[in-house]
Amino acid sequence: PTSKLPDVGTTIFTVMSTLANEHKAINLSQGFPDFNCPEPLMNLVTKYMHEGFNQYAPMAGLPQLRQKISLKTEKVYGYRPDPDTEVTVTSGATEALNAAISAVVKPGDEVMVLEPCYDSYVPVIRLCGGSPVFVPLSLPDFSVDWDQVKNRLSSRTRLIIINTPHNPTGAVMSRQDMNTLANLLNGTDILVLSDEVYEHMVFDGQEHFSVLQHPQLRERSFVVSSFGKTYHTTGWKVGYAVAPPQLSKELRKMHQFITFSTATPFQLAIADFMEEEAHYLELPNFYQAKRDFFLQQLQQTRFEFMPSAGTYFQLVKYNGITDEHDLDFAKRLTTETGVAAIPISAFYHDKTDNKYLRFCFAKSEETLRAAGEMLAKV
Ligand code: PMP
Ligand code: GLN
Repeated sequence: PTSKLPDVGTTIFTVMSTLANEHKAINLSQGFPDFNCPEPLMNLVTKYMHEGFNQYAPMAGLPQLRQKISLKTEKVYGYRPDPDTEVTVTSGATEALNAAISAVVKPGDEVMVLEPCYDSYVPVIRLCGGSPVFVPLSLPDFSVDWDQVKNRLSSRTRLIIINTPHNPTGAVMSRQDMNTLANLLNGTDILVLSDEVYEHMVFDGQEHFSVLQHPQLRERSFVVSSFGKTYHTTGWKVGYAVAPPQLSKELRKMHQFITFSTATPFQLAIADFMEEEAHYLELPNFYQAKRDFFLQQLQQTRFEFMPSAGTYFQLVKYNGITDEHDLDFAKRLTTETGVAAIPISAFYHDKTDNKYLRFCFAKSEETLRAAGEMLAKV
């Protein structure tokens, strides 16, 4: 049988987590916390389950959750989306990304993608008959080369996908970046999909600048976030998309036939727990401390690092250790050293190997210390 996605294998996150489990390695590959989510949040889920809230939620998301998302968006970004027409709850950011791309990309359209990029974007673009146009982020800091973006825009460009804070590099886009993007798109009908799932993980006093803060950009954008990241609940798969009414309407046409709706007790619990603003306000410090602890562990190793500006990932360069391809090295590190990481080539369409690995530091100090000791032997 012919495959609809002949170049797509099993996602690197599944490949590496499976290998880590098989070899009982410390899993710093796939991004997820190894500590639990807040106790009150869990209690709310079971409370609502026992109260009988176990049937379909409304298609667009529970009204009270959409309301809370709207109020929080206003508090954090100074813009209050209409909860009825501009906020859609989805089954994780993954579903929101799929629904947004599927809603707007037609056969023959071009979609600009900045590489390295999260691995779910391109397959969905291709399934829609779109052509990804790849623009590499500039080494060594993985900043956006806006001149190149400008040069690659065409009359067929339908959408540009950005991701800040950026997985896997930890790079954070500045206000200036957003202004430049807005100027480039001015006078075109190109849309923006902004993946901001790490919005609350930005370090060293830097700020996350959201597309929602930019009036000209938000008019043409889907902005996607994930409660999995913010509340340490990646397994619950609850996320959302904010977009102007016309775009939200199209996104919902997809969402209603991808999952229809998202798990009810989780939505109820999250809506209540969103009152706890301290949780997300403390997240930058919480993860910065983890990053710093992990960097301390890396001091005793031969891996080279630049501090991660955001996300819960740390990129390391290993060319002082071996010239192996990053996928081979990541596998060997898992099976022989006992620490699993993600090879960055997986985030490039042509598997470009710049000799980088990505470690996830959303882990207890105990885990990070043990990983450091093992990595010191490499
Ligand atoms: N976008 C990026 C950049 C991510 O890192 C992730 C999570 N790995 C997602 C989207 C998907 O988020 P979710 O788990 O909520 O589907
Ligand atoms: N977003 C996570 C990461 O980058 C993985 C998500 C997934 O496994 N699909 O590691």
